[in-house]
Amino acid sequence: MAKLKLSSYFDEIYTKGEFPKFKIFVDGKWIATKKKQDLISSTDGKKLAEIALADAEDIDYAVESANKNKNKIREMAAIDRLELMNRVMLGIEEHKEEIARVLVAESGKALSSARGEINASIERMRLSMEDSKKIIGEYLPGDWASDTSEKVAIVIREPIGVVLGISPFNYPVYTSIAKILPALLAGNTVILKPPSADPIAFMMCAEIFRKSGLPSGTLQVITGSGSETGDLLSTNNKIDMISFTGSTSVGKHIASIAGLKKVHLELGGKGNALVLADADLEIAGKQCVKGSLELAGQRCDAISRILVVESVYDKFIKKVKEHISDFKFGDPTKSDDITMGPVISAEAAERIDKMVKDSINKGAKLLAGGKHKGAYYEPTLLVDVPLTAEIANEETFGPVITIIKVKDTEEAINVANDSKYGLDSCVFTKDFYNAWETMKALQSGNVTLNAAPSHGTAYFPFGGVKESGYGKEGVGYTIEEMTTVKTMVFDLSPKHLGKTYKGTFKE
Ligand code: NAP
Ligand code: MG
Repeated sequence: MAKLKLSSYFDEIYTKGEFPKFKIFVDGKWIATKKKQDLISSTDGKKLAEIALADAEDIDYAVESANKNKNKIREMAAIDRLELMNRVMLGIEEHKEEIARVLVAESGKALSSARGEINASIERMRLSMEDSKKIIGEYLPGDWASDTSEKVAIVIREPIGVVLGISPFNYPVYTSIAKILPALLAGNTVILKPPSADPIAFMMCAEIFRKSGLPSGTLQVITGSGSETGDLLSTNNKIDMISFTGSTSVGKHIASIAGLKKVHLELGGKGNALVLADADLEIAGKQCVKGSLELAGQRCDAISRILVVESVYDKFIKKVKEHISDFKFGDPTKSDDITMGPVISAEAAERIDKMVKDSINKGAKLLAGGKHKGAYYEPTLLVDVPLTAEIANEETFGPVITIIKVKDTEEAINVANDSKYGLDSCVFTKDFYNAWETMKALQSGNVTLNAAPSHGTAYFPFGGVKESGYGKEGVGYTIEEMTTVKTMVFDLSPKHLGKTYKGTFKE
Protein backbone atom coordinates (compact mmCIF):
# COMPACT_ATOMS: atom_id res chain seq x y z
CA MET A 1 0.00 0.00 0.00
CA ALA A 2 1.25 3.47 -0.87
CA LYS A 3 2.30 5.37 2.24
CA LEU A 4 3.04 8.99 2.93
CA LYS A 5 6.18 9.59 4.94
CA LEU A 6 6.55 13.17 6.13
CA SER A 7 9.22 14.20 8.62
CA SER A 8 8.36 16.39 11.63
CA TYR A 9 9.46 19.47 9.61
CA PHE A 10 6.06 19.27 7.88
CA ASP A 11 3.93 18.65 10.99
CA GLU A 12 1.96 21.88 10.63
CA ILE A 13 0.55 21.23 7.18
CA TYR A 14 -1.75 18.41 8.31
CA THR A 15 -3.37 16.79 11.32
CA LYS A 16 -2.59 13.19 12.15
CA GLY A 17 -5.23 10.44 12.32
CA GLU A 18 -6.10 7.25 10.50
CA PHE A 19 -5.43 9.34 7.39
CA PRO A 20 -3.45 12.58 7.40
CA LYS A 21 -5.78 15.57 6.88
CA PHE A 22 -4.14 18.35 4.95
CA LYS A 23 -4.88 22.03 5.53
CA ILE A 24 -4.94 25.17 3.43
CA PHE A 25 -2.39 27.98 3.82
CA VAL A 26 -3.78 31.48 4.27
CA ASP A 27 -2.35 34.63 5.83
CA GLY A 28 0.80 32.79 6.90
CA LYS A 29 -1.01 29.98 8.75
CA TRP A 30 -2.08 26.44 7.92
CA ILE A 31 -5.77 26.12 8.73
CA ALA A 32 -8.26 23.24 8.67
CA THR A 33 -11.38 23.55 6.52
CA LYS A 34 -14.88 22.27 7.25
CA LYS A 35 -15.10 20.22 4.07
CA LYS A 36 -12.64 17.54 2.88
CA GLN A 37 -12.06 15.33 -0.12
CA ASP A 38 -10.31 11.97 -0.34
CA LEU A 39 -7.00 11.58 -2.10
CA ILE A 40 -6.82 8.16 -3.75
CA SER A 41 -3.39 6.88 -4.78
CA SER A 42 -3.39 5.58 -8.34
CA THR A 43 -0.71 3.07 -7.31
CA ASP A 44 -3.24 0.89 -5.46
CA GLY A 45 -6.63 2.61 -5.77
CA LYS A 46 -6.69 3.15 -1.99
CA LYS A 47 -7.27 6.25 0.09
CA LEU A 48 -4.00 7.90 1.05
CA ALA A 49 -5.03 11.16 2.71
CA GLU A 50 -7.74 13.76 3.11
CA ILE A 51 -7.37 17.08 1.35
CA ALA A 52 -9.04 20.32 2.38
CA LEU A 53 -11.93 21.47 0.23
CA ALA A 54 -12.03 25.24 0.50
CA ASP A 55 -15.49 26.84 0.51
CA ALA A 56 -16.60 30.39 -0.33
CA GLU A 57 -15.63 31.65 3.14
CA ASP A 58 -12.11 30.19 2.91
CA ILE A 59 -11.68 31.73 -0.51
CA ASP A 60 -12.83 35.16 0.62
CA TYR A 61 -10.29 34.94 3.42
CA ALA A 62 -7.51 33.98 0.99
CA VAL A 63 -8.35 36.74 -1.49
CA GLU A 64 -8.60 39.31 1.29
CA SER A 65 -5.26 38.20 2.69
CA ALA A 66 -3.57 38.38 -0.74
CA ASN A 67 -4.92 41.91 -1.21
CA LYS A 68 -4.26 43.27 2.25
CA ASN A 69 -0.67 42.04 2.26
CA LYS A 70 0.28 43.27 -1.21
CA ASN A 71 2.75 45.83 0.03
CA LYS A 72 4.88 43.38 1.99
CA ILE A 73 6.42 41.84 -1.10
CA ARG A 74 6.01 44.89 -3.31
CA GLU A 75 7.99 47.11 -0.98
CA MET A 76 10.62 44.52 -0.12
CA ALA A 77 13.93 45.43 -1.77
CA ALA A 78 14.55 43.18 -4.75
CA ILE A 79 17.80 41.95 -3.24
CA ASP A 80 15.89 40.85 -0.12
CA ARG A 81 13.38 39.01 -2.32
CA LEU A 82 16.25 37.22 -3.98
CA GLU A 83 17.85 36.24 -0.69
CA LEU A 84 14.51 34.94 0.56
CA MET A 85 13.92 32.85 -2.58
CA ASN A 86 17.44 31.54 -2.33
CA ARG A 87 16.70 30.29 1.20
CA VAL A 88 13.53 28.60 -0.11
CA MET A 89 15.52 26.98 -2.92
CA LEU A 90 18.09 25.62 -0.48
CA GLY A 91 15.25 24.36 1.74
CA ILE A 92 13.69 22.44 -1.14
CA GLU A 93 17.11 21.08 -2.08
CA GLU A 94 17.53 19.84 1.51
CA HIS A 95 14.14 18.07 1.54
CA LYS A 96 14.02 16.98 -2.09
CA GLU A 97 14.23 13.22 -1.62
CA GLU A 98 11.41 13.27 0.94
CA ILE A 99 9.27 15.44 -1.34
CA ALA A 100 9.98 13.24 -4.37
CA ARG A 101 8.90 10.09 -2.51
CA VAL A 102 5.63 11.73 -1.41
CA LEU A 103 5.07 12.71 -5.04
CA VAL A 104 5.53 9.07 -6.10
CA ALA A 105 2.96 7.88 -3.55
CA GLU A 106 0.31 10.44 -4.45
CA SER A 107 0.77 10.68 -8.24
CA GLY A 108 2.02 7.23 -9.19
CA LYS A 109 4.89 8.66 -11.18
CA ALA A 110 8.19 6.79 -11.17
CA LEU A 111 10.81 7.89 -8.62
CA SER A 112 13.16 8.94 -11.43
CA SER A 113 10.40 11.19 -12.85
CA ALA A 114 9.54 12.60 -9.41
CA ARG A 115 13.20 13.35 -8.70
CA GLY A 116 13.44 14.93 -12.15
CA GLU A 117 10.45 17.14 -11.39
CA ILE A 118 11.84 18.39 -8.09
CA ASN A 119 15.26 19.01 -9.62
CA ALA A 120 13.65 20.91 -12.51
CA SER A 121 11.70 22.99 -9.96
CA ILE A 122 14.91 23.90 -8.13
CA GLU A 123 16.66 24.73 -11.40
CA ARG A 124 13.69 26.84 -12.50
CA MET A 125 13.92 28.77 -9.22
CA ARG A 126 17.58 29.49 -9.84
CA LEU A 127 16.96 30.62 -13.41
CA SER A 128 13.99 32.77 -12.38
CA MET A 129 16.13 34.51 -9.77
CA GLU A 130 18.76 35.29 -12.39
CA ASP A 131 16.19 36.59 -14.87
CA SER A 132 14.32 38.66 -12.30
CA LYS A 133 17.21 41.13 -12.49
CA LYS A 134 15.98 41.90 -15.99
CA ILE A 135 12.78 43.48 -14.66
CA ILE A 136 13.90 46.88 -15.80
CA GLY A 137 12.28 49.64 -17.78
CA GLU A 138 13.37 52.03 -20.48
CA TYR A 139 13.93 55.71 -21.05
CA LEU A 140 12.19 57.18 -24.10
CA PRO A 141 13.21 60.59 -25.42
CA GLY A 142 10.03 62.03 -26.97
CA ASP A 143 11.58 64.11 -29.73
CA TRP A 144 11.34 61.29 -32.29
CA ALA A 145 7.64 62.20 -32.66
CA SER A 146 6.22 65.65 -33.31
CA ASP A 147 3.59 65.59 -30.56
CA THR A 148 5.97 64.47 -27.79
CA SER A 149 9.05 66.41 -28.79
CA GLU A 150 9.24 68.33 -25.54
CA LYS A 151 8.48 65.35 -23.35
CA VAL A 152 10.37 62.32 -22.13
CA ALA A 153 9.01 59.11 -20.65
CA ILE A 154 10.21 56.38 -18.37
CA VAL A 155 8.50 53.03 -18.87
CA ILE A 156 8.58 50.88 -15.76
CA ARG A 157 7.37 47.37 -14.99
CA GLU A 158 5.12 46.99 -11.99
CA PRO A 159 3.57 43.97 -10.30
CA ILE A 160 0.10 43.07 -11.55
CA GLY A 161 -1.25 42.60 -8.01
CA VAL A 162 -2.84 39.31 -6.98
CA VAL A 163 -1.96 36.37 -9.22
CA LEU A 164 -4.03 33.20 -9.11
CA GLY A 165 -2.07 30.15 -10.23
CA ILE A 166 -3.91 26.93 -11.10
CA SER A 167 -1.77 23.89 -11.80
CA PRO A 168 -2.40 20.42 -13.31
CA PHE A 169 -1.85 16.95 -11.88
CA ASN A 170 0.94 15.86 -14.25
CA TYR A 171 3.61 18.24 -12.87
CA PRO A 172 2.00 19.49 -9.66
CA VAL A 173 5.21 20.75 -8.05
CA TYR A 174 6.99 22.13 -11.08
CA THR A 175 4.04 24.01 -12.60
CA SER A 176 3.14 25.51 -9.21
CA ILE A 177 6.71 26.66 -8.53
CA ALA A 178 6.97 27.98 -12.10
CA LYS A 179 4.06 30.31 -11.31
CA ILE A 180 4.94 31.30 -7.74
CA LEU A 181 8.57 32.23 -8.22
CA PRO A 182 8.13 34.66 -11.12
CA ALA A 183 5.05 36.14 -9.48
CA LEU A 184 6.74 36.78 -6.14
CA LEU A 185 10.01 37.96 -7.65
CA ALA A 186 8.02 40.49 -9.67
CA GLY A 187 6.33 41.71 -6.47
CA ASN A 188 2.90 40.06 -6.71
CA THR A 189 1.03 38.20 -4.02
CA VAL A 190 -0.13 34.72 -5.01
CA ILE A 191 -3.01 32.33 -4.51
CA LEU A 192 -2.09 28.90 -5.77
CA LYS A 193 -4.60 26.13 -6.39
CA PRO A 194 -2.79 22.84 -6.90
CA PRO A 195 -4.54 19.82 -8.48
CA SER A 196 -6.77 17.70 -6.23
CA ALA A 197 -5.19 14.43 -7.36
CA ASP A 198 -1.68 15.13 -6.02
CA PRO A 199 -1.20 18.43 -4.15
CA ILE A 200 0.82 17.24 -1.13
CA ALA A 201 4.39 17.38 -2.45
CA PHE A 202 3.76 20.95 -3.54
CA MET A 203 2.24 21.83 -0.15
CA MET A 204 5.48 20.61 1.43
CA CYS A 205 7.26 23.20 -0.72
CA ALA A 206 4.81 25.86 0.46
CA GLU A 207 5.78 25.03 4.05
CA ILE A 208 9.42 25.60 3.09
CA PHE A 209 8.45 29.06 1.80
CA ARG A 210 6.82 29.79 5.18
CA LYS A 211 9.71 28.48 7.24
CA SER A 212 12.18 30.42 5.12
CA GLY A 213 10.54 33.66 6.19
CA LEU A 214 8.07 34.53 3.43
CA PRO A 215 5.93 37.35 4.87
CA SER A 216 2.45 36.20 5.89
CA GLY A 217 -0.28 36.64 3.27
CA THR A 218 2.18 36.78 0.40
CA LEU A 219 1.37 33.23 -0.70
CA GLN A 220 -1.89 31.33 -0.09
CA VAL A 221 -2.42 27.69 -1.04
CA ILE A 222 -6.00 26.63 -1.57
CA THR A 223 -7.09 23.07 -2.34
CA GLY A 224 -10.55 22.02 -3.39
CA SER A 225 -12.46 20.68 -6.35
CA GLY A 226 -11.75 22.48 -9.61
CA SER A 227 -15.37 23.00 -10.46
CA GLU A 228 -16.35 24.53 -7.08
CA THR A 229 -13.22 26.09 -5.62
CA GLY A 230 -11.71 26.87 -9.02
CA ASP A 231 -14.84 28.65 -10.21
CA LEU A 232 -15.14 30.72 -7.04
CA LEU A 233 -11.54 31.85 -7.46
CA SER A 234 -11.69 32.46 -11.22
CA THR A 235 -14.73 34.72 -10.97
CA ASN A 236 -13.45 36.73 -7.98
CA ASN A 237 -12.88 40.31 -9.11
CA LYS A 238 -10.25 41.04 -6.47
CA ILE A 239 -7.85 38.77 -8.34
CA ASP A 240 -5.87 40.55 -11.07
CA MET A 241 -4.46 37.71 -13.12
CA ILE A 242 -5.00 34.00 -13.67
CA SER A 243 -2.11 31.84 -14.77
CA PHE A 244 -3.68 28.51 -15.69
CA THR A 245 -2.05 25.29 -16.83
CA GLY A 246 -4.44 22.45 -17.58
CA SER A 247 -6.87 21.08 -20.12
CA THR A 248 -8.31 23.01 -23.04
CA SER A 249 -11.89 22.49 -21.84
CA VAL A 250 -11.21 23.96 -18.38
CA GLY A 251 -9.08 26.73 -19.89
CA LYS A 252 -11.92 27.77 -22.19
CA HIS A 253 -14.32 27.73 -19.26
CA ILE A 254 -12.00 29.90 -17.14
CA ALA A 255 -11.55 32.39 -20.00
CA SER A 256 -15.33 32.64 -20.26
CA ILE A 257 -15.89 33.45 -16.57
CA ALA A 258 -12.73 35.43 -15.69
CA GLY A 259 -14.08 38.84 -16.67
CA LEU A 260 -11.43 41.49 -17.27
CA LYS A 261 -8.57 39.81 -15.44
CA LYS A 262 -5.43 39.10 -17.38
CA VAL A 263 -5.50 35.40 -18.29
CA HIS A 264 -2.53 33.26 -19.32
CA LEU A 265 -3.54 29.81 -20.61
CA GLU A 266 -1.20 26.85 -21.08
CA LEU A 267 -3.55 24.13 -22.33
CA GLY A 268 -3.72 20.70 -23.91
CA GLY A 269 -2.09 19.48 -27.08
CA LYS A 270 -1.90 16.72 -29.66
CA GLY A 271 1.85 16.60 -30.20
CA ASN A 272 2.73 15.51 -33.73
CA ALA A 273 5.93 13.68 -34.64
CA LEU A 274 6.62 13.80 -38.37
CA VAL A 275 8.89 11.03 -39.62
CA LEU A 276 10.00 12.01 -43.11
CA ALA A 277 11.44 9.79 -45.85
CA ASP A 278 15.03 10.83 -45.04
CA ALA A 279 14.80 10.45 -41.27
CA ASP A 280 17.42 8.65 -39.19
CA LEU A 281 15.08 5.84 -38.17
CA GLU A 282 17.18 4.70 -35.22
CA ILE A 283 16.89 8.16 -33.64
CA ALA A 284 13.26 8.58 -34.70
CA GLY A 285 12.17 5.20 -33.29
CA LYS A 286 13.87 5.69 -29.94
CA GLN A 287 12.71 9.31 -29.52
CA CYS A 288 9.13 8.59 -30.57
CA VAL A 289 8.84 5.81 -27.99
CA LYS A 290 10.31 8.07 -25.31
CA GLY A 291 8.06 11.00 -26.27
CA SER A 292 4.98 8.80 -26.27
CA LEU A 293 5.55 6.79 -23.09
CA GLU A 294 7.45 9.03 -20.68
CA LEU A 295 5.33 9.79 -17.59
CA ALA A 296 2.86 7.25 -19.01
CA GLY A 297 2.11 9.73 -21.78
CA GLN A 298 0.66 12.24 -19.33
CA ARG A 299 2.52 15.24 -20.65
CA CYS A 300 1.16 18.21 -22.53
CA ASP A 301 4.22 17.92 -24.78
CA ALA A 302 3.90 14.16 -25.27
CA ILE A 303 4.16 12.76 -28.77
CA SER A 304 0.50 11.98 -29.21
CA ARG A 305 0.47 10.83 -32.84
CA ILE A 306 3.26 9.88 -35.23
CA LEU A 307 2.82 10.68 -38.92
CA VAL A 308 5.13 8.42 -40.90
CA VAL A 309 5.81 8.74 -44.61
CA GLU A 310 4.91 5.45 -46.37
CA SER A 311 8.37 4.78 -47.86
CA VAL A 312 9.84 4.28 -44.35
CA TYR A 313 6.66 3.14 -42.56
CA ASP A 314 7.48 -0.57 -42.03
CA LYS A 315 11.12 0.08 -41.12
CA PHE A 316 10.08 2.73 -38.59
CA ILE A 317 7.57 0.39 -36.90
CA LYS A 318 10.35 -2.21 -36.58
CA LYS A 319 12.50 0.36 -34.74
CA VAL A 320 9.64 1.33 -32.45
CA LYS A 321 9.10 -2.33 -31.51
CA GLU A 322 12.76 -2.58 -30.52
CA HIS A 323 12.37 0.28 -28.06
CA ILE A 324 8.94 -0.34 -26.57
CA SER A 325 10.50 -2.19 -23.64
CA ASP A 326 12.83 0.76 -22.85
CA PHE A 327 10.46 1.62 -19.99
CA LYS A 328 10.12 -0.59 -16.90
CA PHE A 329 6.40 -0.65 -16.13
CA GLY A 330 4.99 -1.32 -12.65
CA ASP A 331 4.20 -0.01 -9.18
CA PRO A 332 6.69 2.80 -8.41
CA THR A 333 6.07 2.52 -4.66
CA LYS A 334 7.40 -1.07 -4.74
CA SER A 335 10.60 -0.50 -6.71
CA ASP A 336 12.77 2.53 -7.33
CA ASP A 337 13.76 1.01 -10.69
CA ILE A 338 10.31 1.39 -12.25
CA THR A 339 10.39 4.05 -14.97
CA MET A 340 6.69 4.05 -15.93
CA GLY A 341 3.93 3.86 -13.35
CA PRO A 342 0.14 3.95 -13.58
CA VAL A 343 -1.85 6.85 -15.03
CA ILE A 344 -3.45 9.22 -12.55
CA SER A 345 -6.61 7.17 -11.85
CA ALA A 346 -8.59 4.11 -12.87
CA GLU A 347 -11.08 6.45 -14.60
CA ALA A 348 -8.26 7.91 -16.70
CA ALA A 349 -7.23 4.35 -17.69
CA GLU A 350 -10.85 3.62 -18.71
CA ARG A 351 -10.93 6.78 -20.83
CA ILE A 352 -7.69 5.76 -22.60
CA ASP A 353 -9.02 2.24 -23.11
CA LYS A 354 -12.14 3.57 -24.82
CA MET A 355 -9.98 5.56 -27.25
CA VAL A 356 -7.81 2.51 -28.00
CA LYS A 357 -10.87 0.28 -28.59
CA ASP A 358 -12.51 2.92 -30.79
CA SER A 359 -9.42 3.04 -33.00
CA ILE A 360 -9.29 -0.78 -33.29
CA ASN A 361 -12.99 -0.82 -34.25
CA LYS A 362 -12.19 1.68 -36.97
CA GLY A 363 -9.33 -0.37 -38.41
CA ALA A 364 -6.19 0.28 -36.31
CA LYS A 365 -3.94 -2.69 -35.47
CA LEU A 366 -2.83 -3.33 -31.89
CA LEU A 367 0.79 -4.52 -31.89
CA ALA A 368 1.52 -4.32 -28.15
CA GLY A 369 -0.20 -3.64 -24.82
CA GLY A 370 -3.83 -2.54 -24.84
CA LYS A 371 -4.67 -4.02 -21.43
CA HIS A 372 -5.16 -2.31 -18.10
CA LYS A 373 -5.82 -3.08 -14.47
CA GLY A 374 -6.95 -0.28 -12.20
CA ALA A 375 -4.87 2.73 -13.20
CA TYR A 376 -2.09 0.60 -14.73
CA TYR A 377 -2.27 0.95 -18.51
CA GLU A 378 0.29 -1.10 -20.43
CA PRO A 379 2.67 0.58 -22.87
CA THR A 380 0.63 0.24 -26.05
CA LEU A 381 1.43 0.33 -29.76
CA LEU A 382 -1.24 1.10 -32.38
CA VAL A 383 -0.44 1.23 -36.09
CA ASP A 384 -2.50 2.00 -39.21
CA VAL A 385 -4.61 4.34 -37.07
CA PRO A 386 -7.26 5.97 -39.26
CA LEU A 387 -7.78 9.72 -39.05
CA THR A 388 -11.41 9.11 -38.14
CA ALA A 389 -10.41 7.54 -34.80
CA GLU A 390 -10.79 9.68 -31.68
CA ILE A 391 -7.20 8.86 -30.66
CA ALA A 392 -5.97 10.39 -33.93
CA ASN A 393 -7.40 13.76 -32.93
CA GLU A 394 -7.95 14.11 -29.18
CA GLU A 395 -5.26 14.41 -26.52
CA THR A 396 -4.48 10.84 -25.35
CA PHE A 397 -2.74 11.57 -22.04
CA GLY A 398 -1.86 7.90 -21.77
CA PRO A 399 0.97 5.53 -22.80
CA VAL A 400 -0.16 4.84 -26.36
CA ILE A 401 2.21 5.03 -29.35
CA THR A 402 -0.17 6.04 -32.13
CA ILE A 403 1.16 5.58 -35.67
CA ILE A 404 -0.52 6.97 -38.78
CA LYS A 405 0.65 6.36 -42.36
CA VAL A 406 0.92 9.36 -44.72
CA LYS A 407 1.96 9.57 -48.39
CA ASP A 408 4.63 12.25 -48.20
CA THR A 409 5.90 15.33 -46.35
CA GLU A 410 3.10 17.49 -47.70
CA GLU A 411 0.41 15.16 -46.40
CA ALA A 412 2.22 14.91 -43.04
CA ILE A 413 2.14 18.70 -42.70
CA ASN A 414 -1.52 18.90 -43.75
CA VAL A 415 -2.60 16.24 -41.27
CA ALA A 416 -0.51 17.84 -38.50
CA ASN A 417 -2.07 21.25 -39.09
CA ASP A 418 -5.60 19.93 -39.38
CA SER A 419 -5.92 19.96 -35.59
CA LYS A 420 -7.57 22.25 -33.10
CA TYR A 421 -4.39 22.06 -31.01
CA GLY A 422 -1.03 23.71 -31.64
CA LEU A 423 1.22 23.12 -28.65
CA ASP A 424 4.16 20.96 -29.53
CA SER A 425 5.64 18.92 -32.35
CA CYS A 426 8.81 17.38 -33.69
CA VAL A 427 10.25 16.53 -37.07
CA PHE A 428 12.66 13.75 -38.00
CA THR A 429 14.77 14.32 -41.12
CA LYS A 430 18.47 14.49 -41.95
CA ASP A 431 17.98 17.12 -44.67
CA PHE A 432 18.35 20.77 -43.65
CA TYR A 433 15.93 22.14 -46.25
CA ASN A 434 13.22 19.58 -45.44
CA ALA A 435 13.66 20.46 -41.78
CA TRP A 436 13.40 24.18 -42.41
CA GLU A 437 10.35 23.89 -44.67
CA THR A 438 8.48 21.55 -42.34
CA MET A 439 9.33 23.36 -39.10
CA LYS A 440 8.22 26.68 -40.63
CA ALA A 441 4.97 25.16 -41.96
CA LEU A 442 3.78 23.57 -38.72
CA GLN A 443 1.10 25.50 -36.79
CA SER A 444 2.62 24.81 -33.42
CA GLY A 445 4.01 26.97 -30.63
CA ASN A 446 7.07 24.73 -30.44
CA VAL A 447 8.86 22.36 -32.78
CA THR A 448 11.97 20.26 -32.16
CA LEU A 449 14.23 18.70 -34.78
CA ASN A 450 15.31 15.07 -34.40
CA ALA A 451 14.30 14.69 -30.76
CA ALA A 452 11.10 14.29 -28.76
CA PRO A 453 9.81 17.58 -27.30
CA SER A 454 11.10 18.09 -23.78
CA HIS A 455 10.84 21.31 -21.85
CA GLY A 456 12.59 20.73 -18.55
CA THR A 457 13.12 24.05 -16.87
CA ALA A 458 11.46 26.05 -19.69
CA TYR A 459 14.77 27.73 -20.45
CA PHE A 460 13.45 27.88 -24.01
CA PRO A 461 10.08 29.66 -24.11
CA PHE A 462 7.03 27.44 -24.35
CA GLY A 463 3.36 27.93 -25.17
CA GLY A 464 0.65 27.09 -27.63
CA VAL A 465 -1.34 28.47 -30.51
CA LYS A 466 -4.93 27.67 -31.51
CA GLU A 467 -6.79 25.81 -28.73
CA SER A 468 -3.54 25.10 -26.88
CA GLY A 469 -3.73 28.51 -25.25
CA TYR A 470 -2.03 31.88 -25.28
CA GLY A 471 0.77 33.59 -23.39
CA LYS A 472 4.35 32.35 -23.17
CA GLU A 473 5.85 30.35 -20.38
CA GLY A 474 9.62 30.50 -19.90
CA VAL A 475 12.07 31.86 -17.40
CA GLY A 476 11.98 35.58 -18.26
CA TYR A 477 8.80 35.31 -20.35
CA THR A 478 6.72 34.29 -17.35
CA ILE A 479 8.14 37.10 -15.24
CA GLU A 480 7.17 39.51 -17.99
CA GLU A 481 3.62 38.04 -18.17
CA MET A 482 3.30 38.75 -14.46
CA THR A 483 4.17 42.42 -14.65
CA THR A 484 2.38 45.36 -16.20
CA VAL A 485 3.87 48.36 -17.95
CA LYS A 486 3.45 51.86 -16.51
CA THR A 487 4.44 54.84 -18.64
CA MET A 488 5.52 57.95 -16.72
CA VAL A 489 5.60 61.04 -18.93
CA PHE A 490 7.55 64.21 -18.04
CA ASP A 491 6.66 67.45 -19.81
CA LEU A 492 9.81 69.58 -19.98
CA SER A 493 8.29 72.51 -21.90
CA PRO A 494 7.51 74.84 -18.94
CA LYS A 495 11.26 75.22 -18.34
CA HIS A 496 12.14 74.86 -22.04
CA LEU A 497 14.20 71.77 -21.24
CA GLY A 498 12.81 69.69 -24.09
CA LYS A 499 13.54 69.85 -27.80
CA THR A 500 11.18 71.99 -29.83
CA TYR A 501 9.97 70.48 -33.08
CA LYS A 502 10.33 73.16 -35.71
CA GLY A 503 9.06 71.26 -38.74
CA THR A 504 11.11 73.41 -41.10
CA PHE A 505 12.43 70.65 -43.32
CA LYS A 506 11.01 70.97 -46.82
CA GLU A 507 11.87 69.16 -50.06
P1 NAP B 1 -7.56 20.02 -15.68
O1 NAP B 1 -8.55 18.96 -15.42
O2 NAP B 1 -7.89 21.07 -16.65
O3 NAP B 1 -7.19 20.66 -14.27
C1 NAP B 1 -6.14 21.60 -14.11
C2 NAP B 1 -6.38 22.41 -12.85
O4 NAP B 1 -7.57 23.17 -13.00
C3 NAP B 1 -6.58 21.56 -11.61
O5 NAP B 1 -6.00 22.23 -10.51
C4 NAP B 1 -8.09 21.52 -11.50
O6 NAP B 1 -8.56 21.29 -10.20
C5 NAP B 1 -8.43 22.94 -11.92
N1 NAP B 1 -9.81 23.13 -12.37
C6 NAP B 1 -10.68 22.21 -12.84
N2 NAP B 1 -11.86 22.80 -13.13
C7 NAP B 1 -11.74 24.12 -12.83
C8 NAP B 1 -12.58 25.26 -12.91
N3 NAP B 1 -13.84 25.15 -13.34
N4 NAP B 1 -12.11 26.46 -12.53
C9 NAP B 1 -10.84 26.59 -12.10
N5 NAP B 1 -9.99 25.54 -11.97
C10 NAP B 1 -10.43 24.32 -12.35
O7 NAP B 1 -6.19 19.38 -16.18
P2 NAP B 1 -5.45 18.13 -15.54
O8 NAP B 1 -6.24 16.92 -15.88
O9 NAP B 1 -5.06 18.38 -14.14
O10 NAP B 1 -4.07 18.18 -16.38
C11 NAP B 1 -3.94 17.67 -17.63
C12 NAP B 1 -4.12 18.72 -18.71
O11 NAP B 1 -3.21 19.80 -18.51
C13 NAP B 1 -3.80 18.18 -20.09
O12 NAP B 1 -4.77 18.66 -20.99
C14 NAP B 1 -2.43 18.77 -20.39
O13 NAP B 1 -2.15 18.90 -21.75
C15 NAP B 1 -2.53 20.09 -19.72
N6 NAP B 1 -1.19 20.63 -19.45
C16 NAP B 1 -0.74 21.68 -20.21
C17 NAP B 1 0.54 22.18 -20.02
C18 NAP B 1 1.06 23.30 -20.85
O14 NAP B 1 2.08 23.85 -20.50
N7 NAP B 1 0.42 23.68 -21.93
C19 NAP B 1 1.36 21.63 -19.03
C20 NAP B 1 0.88 20.57 -18.26
C21 NAP B 1 -0.41 20.09 -18.49
P3 NAP B 1 -8.93 19.79 -9.72
O15 NAP B 1 -7.68 19.02 -9.77
O16 NAP B 1 -9.43 20.04 -8.36
O17 NAP B 1 -9.97 19.29 -10.69
MG1 MG C 1 -8.63 16.66 -14.71
